[in-house]
Amino acid sequence: MLFKAKSNCYCAFCKSPRRIYRKKNISVMNIFASLMASVVLMFAIWQEFDPRAIIVFVICLAISEVFVQIRWRLAVVCRTCGFDPILYVKDPEAASAKVKLQLDLRKQDPKYLLAKPLNLPAISAEKSKALATKEKGRLVSRSI
Ligand SMILES: [Zn+2]
Repeated sequence: MLFKAKSNCYCAFCKSPRRIYRKKNISVMNIFASLMASVVLMFAIWQEFDPRAIIVFVICLAISEVFVQIRWRLAVVCRTCGFDPILYVKDPEAASAKVKLQLDLRKQDPKYLLAKPLNLPAISAEKSKALATKEKGRLVSRSI
């Protein structure tokens, strides 16, 4: 469990099964790998022990941290419906626009003509009426 990079989960919106990266930040293994890389680079550049290798080590750490964070951020978005949970927390309207765009693209793509339809959440008639009368977005954010 500790060393498994990916884990299974379901999309919060379309309920399709997917795999995400749990790791948000670098681990001891990444620090060790950066250390090894900086030692190798140190001997490649200066052929001896050199204090400048510390700078190389810090740069390696920064690169791996950025890489792990970008990988996590990209994997969190659902590939099927385009739902982005992090964007939803910050800006539900923007997240909904993104999902709409992705679903429109999916509708136009002939690849998905015979594919299993997505299990999208349905809104009952009274709920959509309440949505239309109440101020925008309030009911949605409360029901989810
Ligand atoms: Zn989804």
